[in-house]
Amino acid sequence: MTPYVSKSPRESYINYRDLDIGTNKINNSKRSYAKARVWGVKYFKNNFNRISASAQPAQEFLHCLSLRFHNSSSFAKLVYTQHNSSYSSVLKSSAQNLRFTTPSTPTPLAIVTPLHASHIQAAVHCCRKHGLQVKTRSGGHDFEGLSYTTAYKVPCIGRTVGLGGHLSGGGYGVLFRKYGLGADNVIDACLIDVKGRILDKKSMGEDLFWAIRGGGGGSFGIVLAWKLKLVPVLANVTVFTVSKTLEQNATKLVHQCQYIAHKLPKEIHMSIIISRVNSSENEKMTVQASFTGIFLGSTDELVPLMEEKFPQLGIVKEDCFEMSWAESNLWATLSLETLLERSQKSVLSKTFFKAKSDYVKQLIPESAFQGLWPKFYEDEAKFANFETESPYPHSAGNLYSILYVFMSWMRRVYNYMTPFVSKSPREAYSNYRDLDIEANKINNDKESYAEARVWGLKYFKNNFDRLVHIKTKVDSQNFFRHE
Ligand SMILES: Cc1cc2nc3c(=O)[nH]c(=O)nc-3n(C[C@H](O)[C@H](O)[C@H](O)COP(=O)(O)OP(=O)(O)OC[C@H]3O[C@@H](n4cnc5c(N)ncnc54)[C@H](O)[C@@H]3O)c2cc1C
Repeated sequence: MTPYVSKSPRESYINYRDLDIGTNKINNSKRSYAKARVWGVKYFKNNFNRISASAQPAQEFLHCLSLRFHNSSSFAKLVYTQHNSSYSSVLKSSAQNLRFTTPSTPTPLAIVTPLHASHIQAAVHCCRKHGLQVKTRSGGHDFEGLSYTTAYKVPCIGRTVGLGGHLSGGGYGVLFRKYGLGADNVIDACLIDVKGRILDKKSMGEDLFWAIRGGGGGSFGIVLAWKLKLVPVLANVTVFTVSKTLEQNATKLVHQCQYIAHKLPKEIHMSIIISRVNSSENEKMTVQASFTGIFLGSTDELVPLMEEKFPQLGIVKEDCFEMSWAESNLWATLSLETLLERSQKSVLSKTFFKAKSDYVKQLIPESAFQGLWPKFYEDEAKFANFETESPYPHSAGNLYSILYVFMSWMRRVYNYMTPFVSKSPREAYSNYRDLDIEANKINNDKESYAEARVWGLKYFKNNFDRLVHIKTKVDSQNFFRHE
């Protein structure tokens, strides 16, 4: 009768109990939620999550945690359950993407805000003991909100430190052409593993130390601290912006920039932000390309250099501003004082957004850019952004990367760009998490390697199999689970 009855799931009536449809394995407490979900959704459909959230493991987990926290006042201050009046504000405090703060977003069972490594060890121990999983949040910048939302009801550990995800996923900034990714400059790390041990570079071993520097720390453990190699920066650097509309030859300049940007001296980092504007001359809608960059040197050195390398852009002294390195990071959007505030706001923080990334290996023809511009006149494109970074070292052969920002409009542009970007696989930057390119299905443990390979190759290319090998060695039960 299979073809003729309800599907995905094939439903059942709880009072007509039927163990054929799935049952928890005896002594399998670690996987109990995942296993229970197989039969649970058949009996209870969407109500299953609600039922399971209020079930035993939650109470047992909290009890276990309270015993391990020793001091009951610190437990009350550092652990927030859904019944706590501060739960929602703590959850939202560093949720940077408002797309994941709506009432329908699945929220963690409890939030632990540790002050001491022992608090994290306790949370890991109690989660494992009671068959729960854990999510780790640092800055909460994950593009898909994976550090604080989950279809699983799990506790979430977090403090607004900010580097946990950034460095463990690679971490590029405007210095990367000269000094490499943030992860390349990690010289040691302190990690809590699945057994609750505190490991450093030596004790975790070469493989695991390699994996947490770009392979996504959240899959391997909880990073407590990074030790970084510092690099020298001048007292003052130069930032520049030159904006050109279509009427001012933007198409040709964007096209030419592809030939030039990756050959510029390593002291220059350049990107192009493309968006819709109203022309200052006739107020008509047009597309504008803003060529922005940072140069580790003075204006007097930059202007002749750019005149030689990219004369068509026509950079003059008035387009350039000298400032300290710290100011250059906040330039145009924020003031230096913002660094003192926890609740700092940048272009993508505390907004609703969806983003996707791409890599360009072959020069995109001018006609492809001409075909792209009409999409910026669509209603939805009002706040949309198309940003190139050049060149990005995801793997050899990349000329530059593209970041698309904004909801469904951006998906159409992403489709339009298919012929012009990396193929087989279409690569993506793991720090620009994008669940559109695939995610593991919940409760599909058997298929998880095959499923994970679909997105794994896109994010990690040939490194994916080595990451799987290390993951299997250090966390064979997939406790630090990722969608
Ligand atoms: C406004 C904005 C600007 C950005 N700019 C850049 C940029 O210039 N360059 C760039 O490379 N990326 C950039 N990103 C992407 C950013 O690097 C990633 O989203 C990164 O994962 C953020 O780290 P986080 O700690 O803030 O994120 P979180 O959301 O807290 O975590 C992200 C992932 O890392 C895991 N994780 C967090 N902390 C730890 C920890 N301590 N131990 C183990 N795992 C952990 C989480 O479980 C999750 O899987 C930007 C993102 C935003 C929203």
